[in-house]
Amino acid sequence: MARFSGKVAIVTGSSNGIGRATAVLLASEGAKVTITGRDSTRLEESRQSILKAGVPEENVNSVVADITSSEGQDLLISSTLQKCGKIDILINNAGANIPDANGKTRTNAGIDNLQKMLQLNLQSTVEMTQKTRPYLAKTRGEIVNISSIGAGPAAQPQSVYYSTAKAALDQYSRCTAIDLISEGIRVNVVQPGFVSTGFSTAARGLSSDESVKFYNSMGEKPHCIPAGYCGQPEHLASVIAFLADRKASEYIVGQTIIADGGSSLVLGFHAQFGQATPKN
Ligand code: NDP
Repeated sequence: MARFSGKVAIVTGSSNGIGRATAVLLASEGAKVTITGRDSTRLEESRQSILKAGVPEENVNSVVADITSSEGQDLLISSTLQKCGKIDILINNAGANIPDANGKTRTNAGIDNLQKMLQLNLQSTVEMTQKTRPYLAKTRGEIVNISSIGAGPAAQPQSVYYSTAKAALDQYSRCTAIDLISEGIRVNVVQPGFVSTGFSTAARGLSSDESVKFYNSMGEKPHCIPAGYCGQPEHLASVIAFLADRKASEYIVGQTIIADGGSSLVLGFHAQFGQATPKN
């Protein structure tokens, strides 16, 4: 029997990148999935990717919604319940680092941008957790929150509010993990490092070609990514699926898995040696 056979999953931010790869993986391993994002064209691309993987049409519930709006969250949950009758897995993946109106993302970014970053990268997960809690308690379900190595402990001066929101998300996840485990709900976190997605298009204003070049160039620098290549969405999807799979990861509660090709273990002075990995 397929690993997620009989399971119902909501994957936020699945109109692109890591969320799309996760939805494809869960669905191709038997889950019914609700996919979502604001961009209907890209969401349809996700739906087509899932169908191309051989998933029956009735196993995909596609919902255009803004995850920061209460109505959008309610629609996601109600349509999932209406079509699938329950919720087993919630992947809180939607997120972005968006500059303020003046293009700033550092200490000088506007306060309205702080609120926006908190609302998207923290509050939407808090709200989705509260709203799905009764349904996840019924199924003894799983929550996987997608954070970032930007959450620390290394500083991220180029994305101050985004990184602050992700750090708060990590602590929120640990607290809720302990609060909800008595109801059978398991909460864990994945922290991606560099992953070739649309993230840099939003964060740095790059075109999709420039974005691919940027990620490839990071992969060629061992002091940026010791693994020697930039992560692809599928590398993250397999880690997320592991934490969403109770049989595989049952005893992991409130933990964070870093999937970054080693980036977060490199110190600046390693670059002085030409390689992150010392050569004999
Ligand atoms: P992408 O930009 O490729 O995908 C982001 C997804 O989030 C899209 O589906 C987008 O959908 C959705 N999204 C953004 N804002 C909203 C909103 N207001 N309402 C609904 N959906 C929204 O980036 P990634 O796949 O890389 O990002 C996935 C997660 O991984 C994020 O939480 C990100 O912070 C995290 N991450 C990514 C890293 C990377 O290097 N790629 C590194 C570290 C963390 P739409 O535009 O259609 O609304």
